[in-house]
Amino acid sequence: MLTGLNIAVIGGDARQLEVIRKLVELDGKLYLVGFDQLDHGFTGAIKSKLEEVPFHEIDTIILPVPGTALDGHIDTVFSNEEIVLTEELLEQTPDHCQIYSGISNDYLNQLVLKTNRKLTQLFERDDIAIYNSIPTVEGTIMMVIQHTDFTIHGSNIMVLGLGRVGMSVARTFSHLGAHVRVGARKSKDLARITEMGLKPFHLNELEDEVSDVDVVLNTIPYPIVNAKAISKMPSHTLIVDLASKPGGTDFRYAEKRGIKAILAPGLPGIVAPKTAGQILANVLAQLLFEQLEDGKETS
Ligand code: NAP
Repeated sequence: MLTGLNIAVIGGDARQLEVIRKLVELDGKLYLVGFDQLDHGFTGAIKSKLEEVPFHEIDTIILPVPGTALDGHIDTVFSNEEIVLTEELLEQTPDHCQIYSGISNDYLNQLVLKTNRKLTQLFERDDIAIYNSIPTVEGTIMMVIQHTDFTIHGSNIMVLGLGRVGMSVARTFSHLGAHVRVGARKSKDLARITEMGLKPFHLNELEDEVSDVDVVLNTIPYPIVNAKAISKMPSHTLIVDLASKPGGTDFRYAEKRGIKAILAPGLPGIVAPKTAGQILANVLAQLLFEQLEDGKETS
């Protein structure tokens, strides 16, 4: 149980509701900032304005998946309140206060550095990234179905990258009956692709591999799907770029060539916000148990 842990949940979208539900269930004391338009009340959780939160008692701050904007603003879909996380606010928290977000940026990194607080980026964790790859794959299937007039079964699908998303995407499209080839740069990844029964190729050979490809699914956050590669693709090829913004595709050139290329960020939150929220909630609960245990040991 999280009895005795004071938690401020600041901003967010539908995913955060699952986090709140779980932490309330575990008896954490929650202050909810940016949820005033939420009809649902969580028993034991207190809806607050930012300035009403007793930051000197807060052990844990949970930010939304994107963390803050580059000017410190925190997005919420449940309020019009303007919420800005500042150095002054963080300095009010006890030294042991820990902050959790999905990802970070320069602003948030600087803030935790200046205030000497610990920030955990949940999306950097393998467990979250692997669980999240499940709704990501389902969203990818949805995108491919919506934007093609042929079946996935029997089509030539190229997956770029064999990381946590790439592996799930490659395996699932193969199970749907596609002919899947996967591009990677490490020999151990090429070996794994072979072991999975898929066709491997080295990324250096990308241009030679695209001449008969129906769909390209990119998971590499680096400009890999460049003009040279796009120029050799059939005109009906669909590119779905899953890599984080700005993606790894030369979208300008794809458009010029009349090739449909779509940047598809945030699929878990779009196709399965409840599951995406539960993934975050379960891992967060585990981390907070550990935080509570560590606190007991050091006190
Ligand atoms: P990951 O496990 O780190 O995998 C990244 C892959 O990209 C690895 O195969 C890596 O190969 C390769 N790569 C990185 N830089 C490269 C470069 N310069 N040249 C060649 N290959 C390179 O990441 P992930 O968890 O699979 O996530 C992949 C991307 O999808 C990220 O940008 C992530 O933010 C995004 N994502 C998007 C969604 C969505 O809804 N669209 C959902 C989840 C994640 P090496 O091992 O050789 O470096």
